[in-house]
Amino acid sequence: MKTQSVRGTYDLYGEAKKKTKLVTRIGESVVEKYGFEEIETPIFEFTEVFARNLGDTSDIVTKEMYCFEDRGGESLTLRPEGTAGAIRAFVSNGMQQNLPLKLYYQGPMFRYERPQKGRQRQFTQFGVELLGAEVPQADVEVIAMAYEFLEKLGLQGQVVVEVNSLGDEESRNAYRTKLVEYLRGHYDELSDDSKARLERNPLRILDSKEDCDKAVVENAPLYADSLNEKSKEFFRQVLEGLDKLGIKYRVNNRLVRGLDYYSHTVFELVTDKLGAQGTVLAGGRYDGLVAQMGGGDVAGIGWACGVERLAMLLDKPVETERPIAVVPVCDDVNVDAVEIAQKLRLSGLKVEQGYSGNMKKRMVRANKINARAAVIIGPDELAKGEVVVKNLDNGEQKNVSLNDLAKELK
Ligand code: ATP
Ligand code: MG
Repeated sequence: MKTQSVRGTYDLYGEAKKKTKLVTRIGESVVEKYGFEEIETPIFEFTEVFARNLGDTSDIVTKEMYCFEDRGGESLTLRPEGTAGAIRAFVSNGMQQNLPLKLYYQGPMFRYERPQKGRQRQFTQFGVELLGAEVPQADVEVIAMAYEFLEKLGLQGQVVVEVNSLGDEESRNAYRTKLVEYLRGHYDELSDDSKARLERNPLRILDSKEDCDKAVVENAPLYADSLNEKSKEFFRQVLEGLDKLGIKYRVNNRLVRGLDYYSHTVFELVTDKLGAQGTVLAGGRYDGLVAQMGGGDVAGIGWACGVERLAMLLDKPVETERPIAVVPVCDDVNVDAVEIAQKLRLSGLKVEQGYSGNMKKRMVRANKINARAAVIIGPDELAKGEVVVKNLDNGEQKNVSLNDLAKELK
């Protein structure tokens, strides 16, 4: 049997798991404050849910999806991102009655890409979708929420908000024409992938990670010059809102997102600490997506973060509650020890028992698990209704009556 995990997948445990859990916990507490509610959708969907909606020239659809045929002959795909499934659920459950609607999700995503630091084949995303709000203030709120999330993780100062506007459809078409004209003049310098994208989805070239494409893109026409008045005004109001909230951002004229469904505001929260995998959170407005999936004219905006990438940025160990160790001095009091431990737990304390070994061994173990106190249980004290409590930080110990034990330990 092969005993290693599949390439690009990892077992998460110990400190690394504590960190990813902290990321999602803080994410939950922040977005719930803004009124978002959790939705859980299946990990696999019909392939077309992704193939049709993410864009048939996107990296995800052309080379990263885990597709398989099930025993019934259906083509299914392990979800590579969360938005398409969430919108599919919105449409299939008829949630149009409840607009505006705020959803968040978390869970594993799957992409067949080259594994490297911060790039896995199974990874976790935490994301939000705000449906039915077409105003720039919604964009501001959703970005502010992302910003607060990273602040609460202690990452302020380590990440920059980059934002751009892709404008409405008219603006995007105008830009596309200009861009294609420019790129045709540099056709020979483009990577093969980008040559193929030139006619079908030239915007994607701006997002290319190939050095030769980057060099060409350097001098490409600026998106801002193609925005119509309506789109400019929308973007102006987004930036004004960010200014009002004191959110520091950088307008990045080259920022486009890798998927087809974006319009108007797109944004990324970027760090320079993870090399080429510096984007920890990314999102944007997708006003056409719901209609494309048959759900009517419903505007949407959302973001998703890479939970493992964020966890990698947390350099301090996660603080967890220190336990109390229950230590029986001899086998005669083992049962009493179990009873006392259980009572303390029911009163809300975190309690460990050593299970086996003599008292000395158990005390060593108590220190190893970083217990803050030991409750030492001996037959003589027990006869008087007492135990010995030892403070493991300063070594002080005293007799405490069983009745006062929980209070004393708190
Ligand atoms: P990248 O440019 O790094 O490939 P992306 O544009 O494909 O990212 P999105 O689809 O926007 O990424 O996903 C949102 C977030 O999910 C990313 O910003 C990143 O933090 C995380 N993410 C995406 N792909 C991976 C992966 N393969 N492994 C770990 N995290 C990932
Ligand atoms: Mg990618």
